[in-house]
Amino acid sequence: MDYEAFFGAEIAGLRREGRYRVFTDLERHSGNFPHATHHHDGGTRPVTVWCSNDYLGMGQHPTVTGAMHEAIERCGAGAGGTRNISGTNHYHVLLEAELADLHGKEAALLFTSGYVSNWAALGTLAGKLPNCAVFSDSENHASMIEGIRASRAERHIFRHNDPEDLNRKLALVDPSRPKLVAFESVYSMDGDIAPIDEICDVAEAHGALTYLDEVHAVGLYGTRGGGISERDGCAHRLDVIEGTLGKAFAVHGGYITASEKLCDFVRSFASGFIFTTSLPPAVAAGAAASIRHLKASGAERARHQERVARVRAALEAANIPTLPNDSHIVPVMVCDPVLCKAISDTLLDEFGIYVQPINYPTVPRGTERLRITPGPLHTDADIAHLVDAFSEIWGRIGLRQKAAE
Ligand code: PMP
Repeated sequence: MDYEAFFGAEIAGLRREGRYRVFTDLERHSGNFPHATHHHDGGTRPVTVWCSNDYLGMGQHPTVTGAMHEAIERCGAGAGGTRNISGTNHYHVLLEAELADLHGKEAALLFTSGYVSNWAALGTLAGKLPNCAVFSDSENHASMIEGIRASRAERHIFRHNDPEDLNRKLALVDPSRPKLVAFESVYSMDGDIAPIDEICDVAEAHGALTYLDEVHAVGLYGTRGGGISERDGCAHRLDVIEGTLGKAFAVHGGYITASEKLCDFVRSFASGFIFTTSLPPAVAAGAAASIRHLKASGAERARHQERVARVRAALEAANIPTLPNDSHIVPVMVCDPVLCKAISDTLLDEFGIYVQPINYPTVPRGTERLRITPGPLHTDADIAHLVDAFSEIWGRIGLRQKAAE
């Protein structure tokens, strides 16, 4: 086989469809978020970032960066091993205690990333529970899907955020079999929110374990940043709450929180936990500082919600089509991959605004979008500039469409 020709042809196919991924080479500036420098074609230009998952700007918070500096001074760079062989640092232990407390659970377990936590925990639970049937929301993240696939357990897909469909599907499976219901709280691309209590009602009626991904909610919702399950007062109903340390907490890593026994089980059997070097101590120290700060302070969350509402209202007033939802994610719907990329390029090249286009397979074909994530550090002037740029570009598209008619 001509391997190079094969790789080239596959890539050319992506380009033809307008969904070839081009990374934007950014240099973020601590102390100046969300402003950054874009390195391109041998030059640089200043940009405002509007699509970061550092939702609250904690990545430049002195408490977080200070904790990381201190931990590096104290412990050096890396962890020096897997958790089992010399790589459990005291910072990991402290962070796991912080996370268990955040979600009101007995224990927590750290992973290399949120992706790995879903893949490893779901793969282990669904794979090791004898004859387990897994019930997975149709919009679940790739990391959950891959974990469930890797487990080889029987898989049932229930309609997105639909407890009745879940109930029907659960009822078809032998009541004596172990079952696992996996879903998310805030869905990352549409920004819609799961009816957690109703899903727990159904799962409980069928004796199923519940596994909730709160990756896009931890730090952001609830009085202590425990996510939608804290906000809705139902964290105690979930057997597993999974989250990331890389988005609102703005460092890196993933975790599950659950009972002592469940965490001990995953710790003991998940190869994605066992056979990999643990997180650098400074990462654990920074994440713990971020969590501690956001447990005590609601100011970032309040400002975040206020900025989101303002951006959404301003875009709507300018007739820019956003997808309605009750979260902090503001998807501007373009519904065409080539146009989506062209708008993103124009925003970057002409206006110094960075919003990455989102294409298939991240979202279904025909629902391509620009996913805007306003943050507490975006100023009124940043917002005005964003909305003016969108209005200008939308005007041009309108003119172009009229000209073609
Ligand atoms: N779950 C969901 C719903 C996600 O959107 C993502 C990443 N975007 C992850 C898990 C993975 O988290 P991480 O980025 O920490 O690997």
